[in-house]
Amino acid sequence: QRSAQPGEIRTTCAYCGVGCGVLARPDGQGGVAVRGDPDHPANRGRLCSKGAALGETVGFEDRLLHPVVDGARAGWDEALQQVADRFRQTIAEHGPDSAAFYVSGQMTTEDYYVANKLMKGFIGSANIDTNSRLCMASTVAGHKRAFGTDTVPGIYEDLELADLVVLTGSNLAWCHPVLYQRLAAARATRGTKVVLIDPRRTASCDIADLHLPLAPGSDVALFNALLAEIDRRGARDARFARHLDGMSEALAAAHADDPAATGLDPARIAEFCAMWIATEKVVTVFSQGVNQSSSGTDKVNAILNCHLATGRIGRPGMGPFSVTGQPNAMGGREVGGLANALACHLDIENAAHRDAVRAFWNAPAMPGRAGLKAVDMFRAVERGDIKALWIICTNPAVSMPEADRVRAAIAGCDVVVVSDVTARTDTARLAHVLLPAAGWGERDGTVTNSDRTISRQRAFMAPPGEARPDWAILAEVGRRMGWAEAFSWNGPAAVLREHAALSGVAARFGLDFDITGLANISDVGYATMTPRRWPQGATAQGGRFFGHGRFYTPSGRGRMVPVAARPPMVALTPERPFRLNTGRVRDQWHTMTRSGRSARLSRHIAEPFLEIHPDDAACAGLAPAALAEVTGPGGRAVLRVLVTDRVRRGEVFAPMHWSGETAPTGRIDALVAAATDPVSGQPESKATAVAVAPW
Ligand code: SF4
Repeated sequence: QRSAQPGEIRTTCAYCGVGCGVLARPDGQGGVAVRGDPDHPANRGRLCSKGAALGETVGFEDRLLHPVVDGARAGWDEALQQVADRFRQTIAEHGPDSAAFYVSGQMTTEDYYVANKLMKGFIGSANIDTNSRLCMASTVAGHKRAFGTDTVPGIYEDLELADLVVLTGSNLAWCHPVLYQRLAAARATRGTKVVLIDPRRTASCDIADLHLPLAPGSDVALFNALLAEIDRRGARDARFARHLDGMSEALAAAHADDPAATGLDPARIAEFCAMWIATEKVVTVFSQGVNQSSSGTDKVNAILNCHLATGRIGRPGMGPFSVTGQPNAMGGREVGGLANALACHLDIENAAHRDAVRAFWNAPAMPGRAGLKAVDMFRAVERGDIKALWIICTNPAVSMPEADRVRAAIAGCDVVVVSDVTARTDTARLAHVLLPAAGWGERDGTVTNSDRTISRQRAFMAPPGEARPDWAILAEVGRRMGWAEAFSWNGPAAVLREHAALSGVAARFGLDFDITGLANISDVGYATMTPRRWPQGATAQGGRFFGHGRFYTPSGRGRMVPVAARPPMVALTPERPFRLNTGRVRDQWHTMTRSGRSARLSRHIAEPFLEIHPDDAACAGLAPAALAEVTGPGGRAVLRVLVTDRVRRGEVFAPMHWSGETAPTGRIDALVAAATDPVSGQPESKATAVAVAPW
């Protein structure tokens, strides 16, 4: 069935970075039926189990319905004034860097834009970071090192045009299910070969011709082995090489690396290299298994090096492809929602860029250096250096590494403001001021998916109680802090127009992010806006980047970065002999504040679990379905034992979604060490050293 029918509203899924179009039909009594939008280019009518259950996750149950100040119900006027006054007073006494925002890839681009403008242009600090730091910061850093810009080169169609798709640190089947469906359908019709590179035998293995269960964190050694073999076989693209710097250094580093670090059978590595080199149309998809690592940025560059050396980038059916976790992680990157970004791909440490944004915003105070990245931000909260913290649309007391420590740090902070749809999160319980936010289906905005397609999320029901959209809450606080003119939009369309106009400033610097076509979009045009991928117009190159050899570095050439494999930062010890890998399950999302409302989704996997190899389970005295206590540097969890040879010996896996204090309790990030990548600041969420014992 094509196109929206009468009564159906076009919107975009609330969950992952595939960004599927959804047709929502509200029943007028608080319920809604959903189906996939056949006209949306990301999904063409498909939905996964989470998207199909969106209608079961709306409703008033557990919703935060009105503002709360110091534990008592308050009106909006009082609550907003309290936020403005407490932030203004803190900044007056301790300076702008005593304030911080911790925001989310679940926010709309409009929400993100207002938060970023308020913190970076008016409060005058760069202390705004996002939970996207836990998701794809290593990709951002790797892209910028190689391309001079944080831009995904390819588009979704490339997965269907490729002859070989390599899934690296990506359980696409569970984490980006509709892309997996598109890949599986292409494989059925054109025989696409699929390689899975993952320590675990995940659901994505169902369509893999080759599975390489490499040692955790050893991706650099594997891709260096591939680059060295590309060189030995003379498979480099000499024509494309004139667009590149750093080839000889990267090759030397690749030849010097030792593929034995992968722990893989050399014959399997040779098979992989032969397959990759022999197939021109190759796409390497990568995700959190690459990013969430203390060498995440190097892993990204090891992958990009192989595509650059062979010129297999930015052309149909070929290229490296980062798939983002959250619905608007990409939009957050575009507005500069990371502590080390500015806006519209401009650089916060570039004085000319800063001056241009200052002039555009008429901003009184622009920081001259990057702010604190997530782990460092909560350390600063712990030390008392950050004294006023506003957390929007995310639950760091559960999802940050060393979550117990983060929870204690927030509890000790002088001013904690939390905007969320519910008060029942570990983080919301710590707030001095709680602000009820409008959620999916109740707010208007835009989101950008993994292939740069900007889509509308649309309101189709009224927010419950007194809930308001985040952009409006932030703008009102900006006005009350004294900047009425700069925060005076009359709706989200006006915010998008300003963001699009600012992208014209970036374009003047020769940067790639240019959505100036939206700068004059009318309110009606915004209401009826259809999905659109940037770039558009003359620079579109079929929607792809870098295939013509144009990069955004100072030299205009792409950079191959020499990288060397190194093991995970936290070493195994006799006391903590297991590597803990963490990740998603198919039917839950983040800390389950939305997906947990659907009984159907909870039937897939009902409780937190620990995958452990049969030999390890026997050694540890753990029977199937027993409870195991897992202890890491920062805390403990009690999990149901799942004995399986899907994991390698010496490695265990646990999902990241559950909270709770009673066994089984899967507050798994309490265990995860806050070891970070030195370039991207992304925590190593997949290689903590833990002990496992019967509970
Ligand atoms: Fe939503 Fe992602 Fe599923 Fe699409 S694949 S329906 S965006 S969760």
